[in-house]
Amino acid sequence: MSQKKPIFIVDAMLGNLAKKLRVLGYDSTYFSSIEDEKLVLIAKNEKRIILTKDELLCKKAQNQNITAILIRGNDELEQISQIHQSIKFEKFVIDTNNSRCIICNGKLQPIEKYRAIGKIPEGILEREDKFWLCDGCKKIYWQGTHFEKLQEFADKLNNRLQ
Ligand SMILES: [Zn+2]
Repeated sequence: MSQKKPIFIVDAMLGNLAKKLRVLGYDSTYFSSIEDEKLVLIAKNEKRIILTKDELLCKKAQNQNITAILIRGNDELEQISQIHQSIKFEKFVIDTNNSRCIICNGKLQPIEKYRAIGKIPEGILEREDKFWLCDGCKKIYWQGTHFEKLQEFADKLNNRLQ
């Protein structure tokens, strides 16, 4: 039924792009520091698309028949629009159930409210009802105020990519 989503490995200088892709629900491996050879190897083994600003790395990967996209845009809006030219994204929706952890790329699982007690500030516990737990680093997520901003970002993307 559902098409398989593209998965990525994001070069060290594109940390913000990796975070945005994770929030949007795209599995995006990212290391703040990694050697080119290692990055290419992971991309090859896990069939990930390389996103990089490094022209040489891009060529190296493409020579090995690995999909690599040379990123030129300066902000995430431009960058994701640029990726869209190579691989057509589906309409973007911010859905925390599909989002990835921005810290570690783990999957987020909905959890009962009581499991968040003592692990997050009390004000948030009073205000929010829905919580998610990262199955990687165990960070707890809630929708909060940033959620609207992210939805706005997704809407902007959708308008641009129509
Ligand atoms: Zn995590």
